[in-house]
Amino acid sequence: MAVVQTKNVTKVFKQGELGAVNNVNLETREGEFLVFLGPSGSGKTTLLRMIAGLETPTAGEILIGGRVVNDLSPRERRIAMVFQSYALYPHLSVYKNIAFPLKAQKVKKELHKGKVEWAASLLGINHLLQRKPRELSGGERQRVALARAIVREPSVFLLDEPLSNLDAKLRASAREELERFHRRIGTTTIYVTHDQIEAMAMGDRIVVLHKGYVRQVGTPTVVYDDPADTFVATFLGSPPMNLIEDTDVIVGFRPEHFRPGEAIADSTKVPLKFRVENVEYLGSEWILSGVLTGGRFDGKKAVSRLLFGHEFEIGKTYDFAVAERRLKFFDRTSEKKVEARALAWQ
Ligand code: ADP
Ligand code: MG
Repeated sequence: MAVVQTKNVTKVFKQGELGAVNNVNLETREGEFLVFLGPSGSGKTTLLRMIAGLETPTAGEILIGGRVVNDLSPRERRIAMVFQSYALYPHLSVYKNIAFPLKAQKVKKELHKGKVEWAASLLGINHLLQRKPRELSGGERQRVALARAIVREPSVFLLDEPLSNLDAKLRASAREELERFHRRIGTTTIYVTHDQIEAMAMGDRIVVLHKGYVRQVGTPTVVYDDPADTFVATFLGSPPMNLIEDTDVIVGFRPEHFRPGEAIADSTKVPLKFRVENVEYLGSEWILSGVLTGGRFDGKKAVSRLLFGHEFEIGKTYDFAVAERRLKFFDRTSEKKVEARALAWQ
């Protein structure tokens, strides 16, 4: 187990262009499952590859276990990495695929069997060792790739969107399996994804990246409940947080907090008239989209997420509300969070 640190790490691929990664300062905790979350192109892979030693930082330092590793090769960093497009050797058995890194590193042959079986048992694939990759399901191949990555007992485990090739159902079970696996091996893990649900479900903490900048680092609860800026506020959560432009601020509230007035027990709530324009029934919830009418937010769009909703009719206006404590405020220029303020609502 080891702690990974980045100090002012920057990557500029072409001089004069914007950095793919800009001045990133991070520190994992020992044994932590840290998630890099951001849209495509936000610098997740580049940052991970610099930690792995596959990409050279333009500036800054990478430390593993307290030691600067900028000049160390990937192998010397004792890091294992699994990519989105992990490739198994099709002509080799599962056993030989998993043993491959041991062979490459000239680990004594008599140790291979024990290590391969250890890795295979962690992933529950001992019964597949004699098969060829083509005889495996997508999920099983994924597990072989993970077993191959951990067989060398890395000090840090780096995963770059390893589940994105799996279909939705398999992804959910693979996610659970990865979590269980992490609990068992306890190795510091950095996991890259663009999927906010995956990040929320798996991360001890989440690093939200946008255009190569870290926007926020925090536990899933913190980044969801207390987003540092409007980007984080809308990137996490589906549907995203309602953001309503006001005078000098943007007012934010989550769809699940925008509800029929009588359903909110708080004495300090903000009443809002809501004209429903669309109703989506999603089985366990309803998504209502519409427009605020009257008062200072007349004409602004808003979305409500409710566990009930059959009574709402398209085109009708209802008395909705948000509890005041649920409101977020962001600066209109910087889009960063500002302290709550009193607003005259009507
Ligand atoms: P993500 O993994 O979040 O999708 P990447 O780290 O792959 O993002 O890419 C971040 C930015 O860096 C993108 O604008 C991408 O086009 C650019 N980039 C990535 N790799 C290279 C490269 N080898 N050469 C030039 N630009 C690159
Ligand atoms: Mg990527």
